Amino acid sequence: MPEYSKSLVLPESRILERVGEMAARLDIDYSDKYPLLIGVLNGVFRFMGDLTRYLTIPAQVDFVRLRSYSGSTSSGSIQLVKDVEFDIKGRHVLVVEDIVDSGYTLQWFLKKLEERGAADVKTCVLIDKTERRTHETRLDYVGFTVEEGFLVGYGLDYNEDHRLLNDIYHLEV
Ligand code: 5GP
Ligand code: MG
Repeated sequence: MPEYSKSLVLPESRILERVGEMAARLDIDYSDKYPLLIGVLNGVFRFMGDLTRYLTIPAQVDFVRLRSYSGSTSSGSIQLVKDVEFDIKGRHVLVVEDIVDSGYTLQWFLKKLEERGAADVKTCVLIDKTERRTHETRLDYVGFTVEEGFLVGYGLDYNEDHRLLNDIYHLEV
């Protein structure tokens, strides 16, 4: 595995404290809604694991996997490599994402879900990375806001490495 220098951005203790707070908020807002949580793989596996550990209300969980082909001039196209397996008609859907950068992926996916007749679609994002936002997208629950930089750890990868780190780091590439 190649070595890169990295600096600590969010220690595990702070991440878990914040994820607990987010779950407490969701417990209140979704107490009578029996939400369907849809995680965007792969980066979300840690966040989804911890969020659902703290959540106490009844809910269901599914995952999608999106692949983006980034062209040199545009945002590229997105393909659903693994789709939602639930019928979302009439459901209160909460999309759970690790990090939002340009906003393109989330905007594209939310549009898809709305076309399928969900009662309500909201988003729960661990990190809102603001500097390169080109596509405005709804962010309902946000863990942390960072301005810039490439982050790894707590599920986030660089070329499929670093996902298993318990803290979040800024990677100097
Ligand atoms: P967007 O479509 O918002 O530009 O990008 C969303 C996806 O790009 C995220 O779900 C994530 O997979 C990847 N991404 C964006 N910023 C980062 C980052 O700082 N670190 C990592 N590991 N992935 C990122
Ligand atoms: Mg992601």
